[in-house]
Amino acid sequence: MKATKKNDPVLYGIVREEYERQKHNIEMIASESTSPMECLELAGCVFNNKTTEGYPGKRFQAGSQIADKMELLAIERGKALYGADHINIQPYSGSSANYGVYSAMLRLGLMEPGDTILSMSLDEGGHLTHGSPANFMSRFFRFEHYSLDPATEQIDYDGLERKAKEVQPKLIIAGGSAYPQLIDYERIGKIAASVGAKYMVDMAHISGLVAAKVIPSPVPYADFVTSSMAKTLCGPRGGFILCKEEYAKKLDSGVFPGSVSSIHLQTMAAKAYTFLYAGSEEFREIMTRVVRNAKYLAGSLAQKGFRIVSGGTENHIVLVDLRPRGITGKAFQDALEYVGITVNKNMIPGDTASPNVTSGVRIGLTSTAQRGFHEEDIEVIAQIMDEVAAHIDDTAVLDACKEKAEALISRFPLYDPEYDAYFE
Ligand SMILES: *Cc1c(COP(=O)(O)O)cnc(C)c1O
Repeated sequence: MKATKKNDPVLYGIVREEYERQKHNIEMIASESTSPMECLELAGCVFNNKTTEGYPGKRFQAGSQIADKMELLAIERGKALYGADHINIQPYSGSSANYGVYSAMLRLGLMEPGDTILSMSLDEGGHLTHGSPANFMSRFFRFEHYSLDPATEQIDYDGLERKAKEVQPKLIIAGGSAYPQLIDYERIGKIAASVGAKYMVDMAHISGLVAAKVIPSPVPYADFVTSSMAKTLCGPRGGFILCKEEYAKKLDSGVFPGSVSSIHLQTMAAKAYTFLYAGSEEFREIMTRVVRNAKYLAGSLAQKGFRIVSGGTENHIVLVDLRPRGITGKAFQDALEYVGITVNKNMIPGDTASPNVTSGVRIGLTSTAQRGFHEEDIEVIAQIMDEVAAHIDDTAVLDACKEKAEALISRFPLYDPEYDAYFE
């Protein structure tokens, strides 16, 4: 960071501060991960200087041959990683990938403005882009939602089927931001087919686990699969869409010119690396550990008197009901942040607390697994969480927990020390 350090020391200082924060923080926000060093390098590379629109071989700007080579490499790697017929890697984010599918559905004549889309209930983990009244898409389509079964806190598939018959959606969306269980992709696909709807799976959170084959893939069942890059996939900020061959052309035009303009080529380069890395044995081991650590944390917290929503986890997310401990999501989030562990407050199914307070927290196990945490380290975290919950207003206890957390995290570097010079 030599140039920034020299010419904008104020900004350099802020970046440096964030780097130190990350080094010393136990990162457990479920949507976060640590981008490999290669991604940091590539996302700041000279491709940033090149403006390119369109697709390889059909660009709107001269001088795009090398960009073509790079996009084709990323496409080949992405398709191979997920065993997909087709991939589009131009969306700027997971949200932008979802808009790309809506845009493609319009181009395909499969959906018109005002038509119905059926997605997971938002306070149970559906995403903003799946029909939140706060998101502008809710002005263009009529969003209906299916729910969890209150007894199991898993998707109520019979209810989903009834709702689909009732509202006759043009598109059914599976996938969410706080769902710790596996989704029966095949069953939802059959429901979609039975009402003549297309089927989109938003695997934003779990695409790394899917790539590593530690949980089932939606690709064989869904018409469209969307994802972000920076959650379990551990890549740069960005998104992509997979689809069946029959939708490929319209999907591409739905993305460009339908919903994006010039490509973030520097991010695309980091995506190309991510698709390579996510196919490696090293990545598979990390993702295996993510799930193992998540199951361990759920079990240990349950033993300590927390209630685990849906009874456990099959992925990287542990959703914790704090009511048995008599504290709110907001209070627990803030106390853990003080201690040096970041999680986020989260609504739990049937939550009566306000979204700014909540009765739960969502804990993610990706970053810690990347840094090398095993079960015995997760046990230390569970013990700290137990103490913090029991003494949420006791600064002396919180300070002692902070020391414990620092002693733990200081054993696990954020990046290999051989790359330290990059941050200087
Ligand atoms: C995070 C998330 C997104 C959005 O991804 P961004 O890259 O943040 O835009 C979309 N869908 C779901 C289910 C998500 O969890």
